[in-house]
Amino acid sequence: MDHLDEFPVIIIDDELHSDTAEGRASREIVKELKGDDFSVIEALTARDGVHAFLSHPHASCIIIDWELTPEAADGMRTAADVITLIRERNPKIPIFLNTEKLAISAIPLGVISRIDGYIWKLEDTPGFIAGHIKRAAQDYLADVLPPFFRGMMDYVEEYRYSWHTPGHMGGVAFLKSAAGRIFYNFFGENALRADLSVSVPELGSLLDHSGVVGEAERKAAEVFGANRTYFVTGGTSAANKIVWLGTVTPGDIVLVDRNCHASVMHAIIMTGAVPVYLIPSRNGYGIIGPIMSRELRPEVIAEKIRACPLVPDPASQAVRMAAITNSTYDGICYSTEMVEEHLRGRVPYLHYDEAWFGYARFHPLYAGRFGMHARDEVGPTVFATQSTHKVLAAFSQGSMLHVRQGRGPVDHPRFNEAFMMLTSTSPQYTIVASLDVATKMMAGHSGRFLVEEAIEEAIVFRKKMVAVAEEIRAGSPSGEDCWWFTVWQPDCITDRETEMSPEEADDRLLLDNAGCWLLDPHDAWHGFCGIEEGYAMLDPIKVTILTPGISPGGGMEEWGIPAAVVTKYLRENGIVVEKTGYYSFLVLFTLGITKGKSGTLLAELFRFKALYDGNSPLEEVFPDLVREHPARYAGRGIADLCREMHDYLRERPIADVMRKICAALPEPVMTPAEAYRRLVRGEVTPVPAGELEGKTVAVMVVPYPPGIPVIMPGERCGPATRGIVEFLVSLQEFDNLFPGFENEVHGTDVVTRDGRRVYYVYCVLE
Ligand SMILES: *Cc1c(COP(=O)(O)O)cnc(C)c1O
Repeated sequence: MDHLDEFPVIIIDDELHSDTAEGRASREIVKELKGDDFSVIEALTARDGVHAFLSHPHASCIIIDWELTPEAADGMRTAADVITLIRERNPKIPIFLNTEKLAISAIPLGVISRIDGYIWKLEDTPGFIAGHIKRAAQDYLADVLPPFFRGMMDYVEEYRYSWHTPGHMGGVAFLKSAAGRIFYNFFGENALRADLSVSVPELGSLLDHSGVVGEAERKAAEVFGANRTYFVTGGTSAANKIVWLGTVTPGDIVLVDRNCHASVMHAIIMTGAVPVYLIPSRNGYGIIGPIMSRELRPEVIAEKIRACPLVPDPASQAVRMAAITNSTYDGICYSTEMVEEHLRGRVPYLHYDEAWFGYARFHPLYAGRFGMHARDEVGPTVFATQSTHKVLAAFSQGSMLHVRQGRGPVDHPRFNEAFMMLTSTSPQYTIVASLDVATKMMAGHSGRFLVEEAIEEAIVFRKKMVAVAEEIRAGSPSGEDCWWFTVWQPDCITDRETEMSPEEADDRLLLDNAGCWLLDPHDAWHGFCGIEEGYAMLDPIKVTILTPGISPGGGMEEWGIPAAVVTKYLRENGIVVEKTGYYSFLVLFTLGITKGKSGTLLAELFRFKALYDGNSPLEEVFPDLVREHPARYAGRGIADLCREMHDYLRERPIADVMRKICAALPEPVMTPAEAYRRLVRGEVTPVPAGELEGKTVAVMVVPYPPGIPVIMPGERCGPATRGIVEFLVSLQEFDNLFPGFENEVHGTDVVTRDGRRVYYVYCVLE
């Protein structure tokens, strides 16, 4: 193992700097370790030691003085307390107790069982002790590597010359040109030498799950609670298609979340399934909520199937699969236990698209709210597809497909045909290695602490936002300029009898108690009526921030600040938010969060407020925007821009329009697969958005926001769903009125004619 100096040894000893025999002995040990290339972090108190450990989670060994004197400033923390804390977070790191031989009889069994050995520093030589520590640290570091990554590193270190693909041969080919050399230097030698792909028998094969790849997948299954896990190198986009191609055949009825990702629609097309949609709710702010549980009732499902003209055999109501996005893009997660209870006996297969939810299993806050929650052989077989790269630590496209065996059979060799169909025969092995490492990171206790850190940071931010709002209100008795952003979250936390604001609620309570975050049927803050008790929860790490403009009931207010202006400002100042709605935007607190990152966001929101309140000239706030569109924006202030934009949205009124769109679906005329067939054959024509009524659309149209499809392939907008056409036209108009703030509408072709943008949508030729 190279680079030992990057994995420090932490010594916690209050006598390190004293002029005593013990102090001298400890210093000698430090000297020896440093001579062996270790870096050493010295801590003189228990608290200091804990901090050193928490800020160096990659430490390789801990040495702690048993006679550490507890101090009042430390809450009288003893060596035993420090050991307990370290062990909770890391069950494997070697811990040595530094003590006298005579003292050992006084050490409680609970401590003895948690440490790896003793150091008798007055008796053994410093060289002997340092050697002992070094061996333990090296053994530990060798063992922290998960199977695939270790095999890959060994291979890369051992074999310098390759004659196999990839053709760049460990990066050497890049050195033959200037651009190539810059590329090589930028990524570094190891990244290129580790780009091995399948030509290396030592690493097994992803396609047949053999060797260390297979071992890594089995380990992941164990850690993520699955019967079987597949590593997918094409993102959850590929994972979703694998699930479907492995279980669904042409003509099968499938229940699909209308709030599904494009890849699920692609899977519907590829399999030739007949989709029957589950309609998610939507609140006044335009936030997409859960599919209410009444949508899952047998009689409601039966009615949907009866009403669907595409069902091949109306006598057969068998549903092959149900697919639900969990959590939603807006951070709502379901009680999967309740969902399965509702669907029990109704479907053999249940697919949760958990692209944003790979961490759920590792914190008790999410208990019973993710796909792999418990074994249940009589319920549906559950698939969970997770974009490891989105919320855990993995390279882009790194995704996992988990299977929990229930009553629907999943015969691995047959299912693997679908896996191979969607997997390159030259998969990117660095992605596989990152999935292996992500698994290792979440294994044991460390997963919980990593997730907890993200939740904690999110809670700190949520509380701070409430406190700031109150401060601003208190500081402005006249009520002028006293606006602030609102976090979409419960107004008060009910803990038995006490009612506290989220600001007052104890952090521990918020961290441990899912009840704090439930969308309770009796609460008004979330805006979803008739929700079942305990059914849906707001995930605290997904923070939706509301801008002024829409009242909780969904009415447009006199005055408002469209979120697009705020997030454009943030983006130009280095803060990229996850998603922007009309009057809301979403920020994510993932495992990559660092303490203080949210402080920067807060500071920028303050700056935005100051610029807005002072109606600062757009020339200063968005200089590029004014340079590109001088006639449109020169001489205006940022508050002027917000007012214009808000007035435009208020006239429509955007919240109402979006609700209407979600209430009624267009009429299905042909299956998505048939619409796609027409598209490929050229039996389609582009139609301007304003003329879509009466046409059968051949593609999936998804405006962002709200990021939910408004038309699916094979559907026709009739008089009852004219709202969709009006909505698209108003987006188009918005683009023309507010250049620089154009909407993103997937599935449309934007053509600029006479300086105006027009959306074209492919429709089936009649
Ligand atoms: C991002 C996303 C996907 C696709 O995942 P990739 O890993 O980007 O391919 C699938 N489903 C949902 C809900 C997503 O948000």
